Amino acid sequence: MSMDSPAIQSELDARIHQVLSEFSQLSPFSAGYPVNQNFDYADLYPLLAYAANNVGDPFGYSRYQSNTHETEREVVTAVADLMRLPAEDAWGYVTAGGTEGNMYGIYVGREMMRDPVAYFSQDTHYSVLKILHVLNIRNIMIRSQDNGEMDYDDLRESIRINRTSPALIVANIGTTMKGAVDNLDRIREIVQELALPRYYIHADAAFHGMILPFVDDPQPFGFDSGVDSIAVSGHKMFGSPIPCGVVVTKKEYTAQIGRAIEYVGALDTTLLGSRNAITPMIMWYSMTKNGVDGFRRIVADMLDTAEYAVQRFNENGIPAWRAKNSPIVVFPRPSPYVLFLWQLAPIDDIAHLITMPHVTRQMIDEVVADCLEWPPV
Ligand SMILES: *Cc1c(COP(=O)(O)O)cnc(C)c1O
Repeated sequence: MSMDSPAIQSELDARIHQVLSEFSQLSPFSAGYPVNQNFDYADLYPLLAYAANNVGDPFGYSRYQSNTHETEREVVTAVADLMRLPAEDAWGYVTAGGTEGNMYGIYVGREMMRDPVAYFSQDTHYSVLKILHVLNIRNIMIRSQDNGEMDYDDLRESIRINRTSPALIVANIGTTMKGAVDNLDRIREIVQELALPRYYIHADAAFHGMILPFVDDPQPFGFDSGVDSIAVSGHKMFGSPIPCGVVVTKKEYTAQIGRAIEYVGALDTTLLGSRNAITPMIMWYSMTKNGVDGFRRIVADMLDTAEYAVQRFNENGIPAWRAKNSPIVVFPRPSPYVLFLWQLAPIDDIAHLITMPHVTRQMIDEVVADCLEWPPV
């Protein structure tokens, strides 16, 4: 890049064209990340002509008026409803992604519990350990079972040893690698059995938070199962081209920890100051356009395709499997070439592909064929 003299239009066009062509070549081979690429937000493009900013609490007053707080509130209450929290009890905001939502939920948990010990499983997303360090929270990593779920015996023992401290439990509503859902009923039984005076459950529902509300037989996942806060990503199931997410918690908690800031005339309840005003519109558009029926159909198709993938792998002697209600198909780590070609994420001796809405059965057939043609060395 050079800033020495102003660029001419053709130079600008060349770079934009180059990036566009890179993106368009990659997207037909995107089978490894939980990112929904079926979307069209052309209706929203004119919004980029304005300096919009959602600084401040979407449920409060902000002096900066070019915002989409009203839409943001609708997104938060609609997600709260899906997570089984009555709108009148809910507070939350549209975040920059699942990580910010986890940070906010864990922050609220720390403030409510006062010097808790945090518990999270080995299979928990890497953002959680980072957040616990940033927030300086004592923490214990709990063993995982082979299927990716928390080992409840290890949780019980760890809490028992620390039973004089309040517990801040981070539960996975769908782990990143195996799509495992930590059992909220078991977790609550354990803290009740140990007669812990106080505990707080933050649910990391980045991906499966927008799957379980739309299946016939979901594992427990929401506020009706004892969750105190929940984080969902917007660029995963919603299909937002800009990373974003939603965090939902209880209004009574946030009321205790907000602070008023004079400069922007806003109640400072969010982690960030200036915030994206476009992403709430994107999430609103996705939710409104698809509706619950649309999401039910999308999710059912994804899970059907995932089952198809498991069968295709198995028929060809590759021991693939998936967790209940998860489109994450886990299989033995393939060769580096296959990982690279299909942008698959490996950990140790396994990898996964994820049947997002843009992933077709034909793509699955090609992945399986490539695994057979280029076997791991
Ligand atoms: C993707 C993911 C995250 C992080 O979300 P970002 O939106 O990438 O910050 C956190 N937890 C789980 C389980 C995830 O799958």
